[in-house]
Amino acid sequence: MAVTKIASDALGFILEACKASHPHEFGALLEAKEETIINVIYLPGTDTTRRSVSLKTWMMPNMPHAGSVHSHPSGAAYPSEQDLIFFRSNEVNIIVGSPYTRNSWNAFDNSGNRIEIEIVDYDFGEEEHDMKWL
Ligand SMILES: [Zn+2]
Repeated sequence: MAVTKIASDALGFILEACKASHPHEFGALLEAKEETIINVIYLPGTDTTRRSVSLKTWMMPNMPHAGSVHSHPSGAAYPSEQDLIFFRSNEVNIIVGSPYTRNSWNAFDNSGNRIEIEIVDYDFGEEEHDMKWL
């Protein structure tokens, strides 16, 4: 199922994580339930002490994930050449540009084309929606 929505809470968490990482990049994977992104999967070993997250060195977990998210502290929310290569393995890829507001991010498909992701209020119900640590 195509991912077309993101839970407002998940986006809020992503923006906070990007701000906390600034001026370094923040990077994580996205978990979706049906067509909605509901969770962020943080990967241990992501080197946040450098100015850029090396996407190629991420350990890709053997678990279903819908996409990726990372920040661009420089502000431009558009993919680099390296990003486009990484995007190929993910259905949806979010880039958040500084200053990390609800208006400073873009989503791209696995070919690097911009896609629209709608921000929705998602009812998490009884589900655990804490950040996951692998
Ligand atoms: Zn990038």
